[in-house]
Amino acid sequence: MNIALYRLIAGFKRFREKYSLSNERLATSGQTPKTLLIGCSDSRVDPAIMTGASPGELFVVRNVANLIPPCEPSAVGFHGTSSALEFAVVNLKVENIIILGHRQCGGIRALMNGITTDPNSFIGQWMKIAAEVPAKVISENPHLDKEHHYRIAEMEALKISYKNLQTFPFIKAAVENRHMNVIAVYYDLEQGLLWELDSLTQQFKQIEI
Ligand SMILES: [Zn+2]
Repeated sequence: MNIALYRLIAGFKRFREKYSLSNERLATSGQTPKTLLIGCSDSRVDPAIMTGASPGELFVVRNVANLIPPCEPSAVGFHGTSSALEFAVVNLKVENIIILGHRQCGGIRALMNGITTDPNSFIGQWMKIAAEVPAKVISENPHLDKEHHYRIAEMEALKISYKNLQTFPFIKAAVENRHMNVIAVYYDLEQGLLWELDSLTQQFKQIEI
């Protein structure tokens, strides 16, 4: 076994010791998480580690660049993110949805550099969800450098995901009928800061911690 795998097994041993009681309870009574979190697959932004959440607390979907596709017919293709949204909202009846974006996102960087245009690439097809971002960011901020463009693009992509959430009828219904919260948060891992999208102004405001 290599060192990376050995470290994971040792970590699991510590986890099992720490959570043996709650594991028992979770195994017999099922899961009742209050929050669905859509995050990026990036290894630095693990939602449970970042928030200190315990087993059973967060229902998590992670994908490249924490994108939410628009609602599309279920009969065509395979919809991993959409099916997780449906399960969390319709079956688990979560009270909150958090979309968690982050600084230094490799998916957004690839999108901004135009290297996601290969029609045979899964990432290229996936990143089309945010296809409008590069032209918008560059035309609205011609004087800024690349790093600033990436940062703005990461936030713009979050806005698209936030908007796309509203295209799912079951999410719209949960917001209207049972006041489910939907928030978009941006994690600046360089400065250790969190920003929240104000849905009315479409601006990001720093969260006081
Ligand atoms: Zn990312």
